[in-house]
Amino acid sequence: MRREPEALSAALAGLAAAERIRRRRVIERVAGGGTEGARVIVEGRALVDFSSNDYLGLARHPQVIAALAPAAAAFGAGSGAAHLVSGHSAHHHALEEELAAFTGRERALLFSTGYMANLGTIGAFAGRGETVLEDRLNHASLLDGARLSGARLLRYAHGDAAAAQRLLAERGDVALLATDGVFSMDGDLAPLAALAAPCERARAWLLVDDAHGLGVLGPGGRGSVAAAQLDAAAVPLLVGTLGKAFGTFGAFVAGGRDTIEFLLQQARTYVYTTALPPAVAAATRVALRLAAAEEWRRARLLELVARFRAAAAAAGLALTASPTPIQPLIVGAPATALHLSAALAERGFWVTAIRPPTVPDGTARLRITLSALHRDVEVDALVDALAELVAAGPH
Ligand code: PMP
Repeated sequence: MRREPEALSAALAGLAAAERIRRRRVIERVAGGGTEGARVIVEGRALVDFSSNDYLGLARHPQVIAALAPAAAAFGAGSGAAHLVSGHSAHHHALEEELAAFTGRERALLFSTGYMANLGTIGAFAGRGETVLEDRLNHASLLDGARLSGARLLRYAHGDAAAAQRLLAERGDVALLATDGVFSMDGDLAPLAALAAPCERARAWLLVDDAHGLGVLGPGGRGSVAAAQLDAAAVPLLVGTLGKAFGTFGAFVAGGRDTIEFLLQQARTYVYTTALPPAVAAATRVALRLAAAEEWRRARLLELVARFRAAAAAAGLALTASPTPIQPLIVGAPATALHLSAALAERGFWVTAIRPPTVPDGTARLRITLSALHRDVEVDALVDALAELVAAGPH
């Protein structure tokens, strides 16, 4: 039935009553063109940004930014077509080769977003009459990919490799198991080694979406899969995004030669969409080089994670087990998360409230993300503000 305008108003009113209305805040500019850490100007005020996924600070790196203009001059502002039509530039091609080398895979294939990489890959590797297994807290794009594929989607409890293993052994029809490498709203790690072996035994494809691990974790920033010492045979489908630690935009899937060729031919979100702008690919090549070479960014980031966790623990804040730059503070009710987020903004910190349905009911939270650009004093001041606000109780 058609949704009438009154039904839309009622739906919006329902969202508002449940404190689920989302609002965008307009960034007027980033402070200091990259020299003032992780600040943004919002409504005329400078806020320290603890909400971005720009973990290494590469989104505003002068060399990354400088790569955009010459590439646009050479290739245009946009790619003009899909990769398989006439949109595949020398920068796209080189970036794919560099991503394959970085991840230790035979080939890599660029997608325009991580959302599309996941939809397209799951759709290419699973279909009707088959089963896809997923962690209950996987990113929405992995869950949607399974639904769109027509396969049966079974979700196991978060991080429960034993449950996944049971399902793999009991069912003969599991085509693919998909998991976040680092869970996007919790920051914890998937039990990759415990998932890889049973997938290999059951001859199911293992897809690891390492959107939040690549660039941040593992030797040389090669991600959660490398950190778990798993090779390309153990994890044949590795998804990465470029809009987080690499600071630009887009995504890729890395894997074996035939795996990637099959995706190139079959993934609908690859075939039927415009290639990302060549200038973005050019900037990403610079960002990838910096991310791989500048170990200090990862070291600094992990130092800040340790600093935040030690200070938060000392202040009595309830931390989760996250070892990554994603540090959630779970507060329960959406209204509490919204109140804390607004109060933090008053004090100069941008920390977004994350509410259902992005996270399960009863687990609304502040999702604090750290960046190599943060200063010690900013992290300390954030913890002080949080401790004071949490101690003051709900409003
Ligand atoms: N996977 C995960 C785990 C993510 O957190 C995100 C982004 N929030 C995506 C995929 C989607 O990536 P993109 O933003 O490039 O579409």
